[in-house]
Amino acid sequence: MEFRDLKRQYSVLKNDINDALSSVAASGIFIGGDNVLQLERQLAEYVGVRHCITCANGTDALTIALKIWNVGPGDAVFVPDFTFFATAETVAAEGATPVFVDVDPITFNLSPQDLERKITSVLADGVLHPSVVIPVDLFGLPADFPAIKTIAQKYNLHILEDGAQGFGGSINGKMACSFGDIATTSFFPAKPLGCYGDGGAIFTDNDKWADIAASLKVHGRGAGKYDNVRIGMNSRLDAIQAAILLIKFRAFYGNELQAVNAAAVKYTELLQNVVITPFVPQSFNSSWAQYTIRLSDNSTRDRLQNKLKEKGIPSVVYYPTPMHLQTAFVDCPSFGSCPMTEMLCNTVLSLPIHPYITTEEILTVSSEIKHTL
Ligand SMILES: *Cc1c(COP(=O)(O)O)cnc(C)c1O
Repeated sequence: MEFRDLKRQYSVLKNDINDALSSVAASGIFIGGDNVLQLERQLAEYVGVRHCITCANGTDALTIALKIWNVGPGDAVFVPDFTFFATAETVAAEGATPVFVDVDPITFNLSPQDLERKITSVLADGVLHPSVVIPVDLFGLPADFPAIKTIAQKYNLHILEDGAQGFGGSINGKMACSFGDIATTSFFPAKPLGCYGDGGAIFTDNDKWADIAASLKVHGRGAGKYDNVRIGMNSRLDAIQAAILLIKFRAFYGNELQAVNAAAVKYTELLQNVVITPFVPQSFNSSWAQYTIRLSDNSTRDRLQNKLKEKGIPSVVYYPTPMHLQTAFVDCPSFGSCPMTEMLCNTVLSLPIHPYITTEEILTVSSEIKHTL
């Protein structure tokens, strides 16, 4: 069994993908071009924002967003303690200070209560200027944007939505990657919408920020190709990746998002009285980048993972280490503890899930879990 079976997806989309690859090869246009423009147009429309600017990966997308707002030394940027490293890494790389915020143990997403606690603590300390909050749509579930927006407005923070895992999720029908003042996503192969290499995108309704993003991703270009108005990056999405994404995006909204939700429902039906299954709040929809269960304690989690491995069932601990305990962040000042994240790192386990998983495979995984516990 595969954790995320991309080969099965390819076998379904093979003809279209092969055609797309050969037509890019024949066109001789490998950077930019019509495929990239079409993709940006389609993704912006789907998400419901004015602008989508593609770039080289989800990490660069975050970096570009921070650069647009001139985030740097002296700025406090609030990030969840329970996330992938890049969310906080990009903040530190710009010279700003990541302030780690605990998460809600039920949704795994940024806790609005702890966000306000950490902001208050930074303000009381009086050294850093609270400037941005980066809620992550973890495992495919949008963060609690209604509550986060209220706090962001109160303290005058920009919201940067890290939707690397969240593309396709929604709240009350409003799509993920439309909640932040700027939002970003990743097309890393294992993400909900993945390409065949690295890729990413930035979303915003703000015309001026969209222009700056488009400039930053191409060496800070100005009006012409050799006119450079700011220090930028080389961060473009390849035409080949855009062509693949156009095919995969059609499958994504056509049937994959529905299929992966059906898989999650099946898992929950089979496991809800066995382990703590993931919770999707009323009016929220997940794109199920991961299906993550919680076990009673660390030794049960590790024992289960080993047992599944013996049976040929892959599982992954997303994430084993809270950001505040990462070696790279030892010098970051602490503005309070994150006990829920520490608990989750010891007890979570992500199970195989993707749009092409079969009911039989879900039954196999679930019954192995039941027998082990
Ligand atoms: C994957 C991921 C990123 C980084 O995306 P890349 O395309 O791999 O650079 C950032 N944030 C989160 C939450 C992610 O899961």
